[in-house]
Amino acid sequence: MKVLVPVKRVLDYNVKPRVKADGSGIDLANLKMSLNPFDEIAIEEAVRLKEKGTATEVVVVTVGVAKAETDILLTARAMGADRAILIQSDDEVEPLGVAKLLAKVVEEEAPGLVILGKQAIDDDANQTGQMLAALLNWPQGTFASKVEADGERVKVTREVDGGLETVDLKLPAIVTTDLRLNEPRYATLPNIMKAKSKPVAKKTVADYGVDVSPRIKTLKVTEPGKRQAGIKVGSVDELVERLKGMGVAK
Ligand code: AMP
Repeated sequence: MKVLVPVKRVLDYNVKPRVKADGSGIDLANLKMSLNPFDEIAIEEAVRLKEKGTATEVVVVTVGVAKAETDILLTARAMGADRAILIQSDDEVEPLGVAKLLAKVVEEEAPGLVILGKQAIDDDANQTGQMLAALLNWPQGTFASKVEADGERVKVTREVDGGLETVDLKLPAIVTTDLRLNEPRYATLPNIMKAKSKPVAKKTVADYGVDVSPRIKTLKVTEPGKRQAGIKVGSVDELVERLKGMGVAK
């Protein structure tokens, strides 16, 4: 069984985002870009399925800028993906457009399982996996904290409010990863060197003939409100008095 893992290049989670002066978006110039953390978890899960002998090949795919080839797609191959597909687009493609492109890739590649992140940490959309499942009419197990697959079915344990739910899906299927599914391995330097010889197929959005024109207009992006400075109190009695003054204590 082939496993397809769609991955997104996002602002590294350690970098504090800066809003552009005109409020039109986030300024990404010269900042560190990385694999979306949930996608690292998806790659790890796919590579573990290959190590167990359930998967035969792990293919990663991204819709994004050319630079993705030498950063995130290299990391993905160093983590264990066998090959990569870069669908180049200089413009950001919305989740629906990405899902339509992925549906075409699925048609070509015929994977038994597609593992995506549950959300990209830049747009926080949490839409692409679900839209892809709808477009393909495939079953989906979202927010997976455990995945058990054989060649026929996949059991997905999902983190739901107040507990865990386990669903049993017939393959081919879509799975999206939650934070606790696994701890992704590091891409070590020797593996990064080796990964350079693993193939990357370069495509453009036009190759797939789907409409990815934007349907959403961002009106404004603003910084979160600044926290007000706290106050230091000299004693517990003073703290209690102040809390009483605020109506918090009686
Ligand atoms: P989102 O719906 O944008 O929150 O993204 C959810 C998941 O869809 C991500 O974790 C990726 O697995 C996948 N995805 C989103 N955008 C892209 C993209 N541009 N290229 C490939 N995969 C993507």
